[in-house]
Amino acid sequence: MTDAAAIPAPAIVLDRQGLNAFAAGLGCPSSWPGEAAYGEATRIWNAMIERRPALVVRPGEPEEVAQCIRFARDNGLPLSVRGGGHNIAGTALCEGGLMIDFSPRKSVRVDPATGRVRVQPGAAWADVDRETQPHGLVVPGGIVSTTGVAGFTLGGGFGWVSRRHGFAADNLVAAEIVTADGSVLRTSADENPDLFWAIRGGGGNFGIVTSFEFEARPHGPEVVAGLTLHPMSRADEVLGLFREMTGGASDRLTCVLIMRKAPPLPILPKEVHGAPVAGIAVCYSGSVEEGEEAVLPVKRSGNPLADTIGRKPFTAHQQFLDGGQPFGRRYYWKSEYLDALPEAADETVIRHAGAASSPHSALLVMHLGGAAARIPEQATAVGNRRAELVFNIQGSWEDPAEDRRHVGWARDFWSAIQPFSSGGTYVNFLTQDAGEDRVLAAYGPELYTRLAKIKAKYDPDNLFRSNQNIRPAA
Ligand SMILES: Cc1cc2nc3c(=O)[nH]c(=O)nc-3n(C[C@H](O)[C@H](O)[C@H](O)COP(=O)(O)OP(=O)(O)OC[C@H]3O[C@@H](n4cnc5c(N)ncnc54)[C@H](O)[C@@H]3O)c2cc1C
Repeated sequence: MTDAAAIPAPAIVLDRQGLNAFAAGLGCPSSWPGEAAYGEATRIWNAMIERRPALVVRPGEPEEVAQCIRFARDNGLPLSVRGGGHNIAGTALCEGGLMIDFSPRKSVRVDPATGRVRVQPGAAWADVDRETQPHGLVVPGGIVSTTGVAGFTLGGGFGWVSRRHGFAADNLVAAEIVTADGSVLRTSADENPDLFWAIRGGGGNFGIVTSFEFEARPHGPEVVAGLTLHPMSRADEVLGLFREMTGGASDRLTCVLIMRKAPPLPILPKEVHGAPVAGIAVCYSGSVEEGEEAVLPVKRSGNPLADTIGRKPFTAHQQFLDGGQPFGRRYYWKSEYLDALPEAADETVIRHAGAASSPHSALLVMHLGGAAARIPEQATAVGNRRAELVFNIQGSWEDPAEDRRHVGWARDFWSAIQPFSSGGTYVNFLTQDAGEDRVLAAYGPELYTRLAKIKAKYDPDNLFRSNQNIRPAA
């Protein structure tokens, strides 16, 4: 485990009285265990995480964030920050410390003339899309619209348009950040460029970001997108089609392979609900005419159980997977980057995906590459950007008594896929039990060494450690 819970923190020297005095002196709202606002702030996406902050604060101004940082530092308190609360490792929560909750700060301001988009740190991708799409603009977000912009971007962040426009971090042009000494800094290619390099992939290790500024790209508002699903008995054909669609595809086309038990949705016949299915989700970033042509092989393959591919608002496509990923369920993921999904892997993939132990669990294989892979590897701190596919095994269930079974399914599946791994993983998909070796695998030795040096400059005492932690260089 690499988060705050794992790294010995200095003893907490404050009692409730000290915290009370601090909270009373802040100009922003705060909440305590037992209060409704505390419950709301600490209810994160993954219910597996049980850490309990001592106090939650909701700063508005960067100076209030700086006060929190100084207070946590001077009193040896663990410190954590919540953007969208979506992280699988639940690093928005710290045990017994101070939690900064940005969730009320969701404003998104678009300047259509320049294409610049300013985003507050509590916004989710749905908030960004709502403001950018009416202008036919997009900032590359994730494939689930409730995911927070902050943690997503700081760890890299890819989605439906990354093959055309790169990672979210590649489209960040500036940020306002409060560092461990309480300084409020602007960072961009020209201002504190080392810090700017590090926050584009290095996660929340370097400071607390209070504002993001992106350059938006053309996309939508109408796109060709959707999903076809087939019975698992045809999974080998689906895998073959996925290989065909992703091999040498245009940057404008993104495909995601999905295998899971059929959810009880009206798009699927009742008799297949609960049965294993395999399918391909697509999104074309370009004209709808070109898109319809590009997705024809997916639409023409056999007799799918469901086919939702067609013209639609991108905002609708961005939300179609949201229902399967509700806040408050138990989740456990294992992930790996692959250069390809060869035929030799088919039997393993079909066997393990078909044996998913929970009706909510799924395998998603996301198609990367394209423009994201052509950006030089040292340009940002995004690790493994040359990888073509991310293989994401998603365990998802409700009953804590079943933890072992569903975690076991994800781990066994992940072990079986190792012969096909490119050796790397994605930092934003790492769970709370990921060790230092997995963080290293997420960056590789060169990026990690550079990140550790920048960490030593901006956060030598590792105050920001409720994350996939980068240790300050000695
Ligand atoms: C259902 C689901 C779908 C996803 N889909 C994708 C996807 O398509 N593509 C993809 O790339 N990723 C995806 N992710 C992973 C996602 O990138 C991470 O979960 C990310 O951490 C979410 O950001 P958040 O702000 O919601 O996280 P939070 O849980 O709020 O924060 C996580 C961490 O980010 C850091 N952080 C957050 N806010 C700040 C801040 N203001 N300043 C400094 N540090 C901060 C902190 O270290 C914090 O602990 C998905 C996750 C989920 C749960």
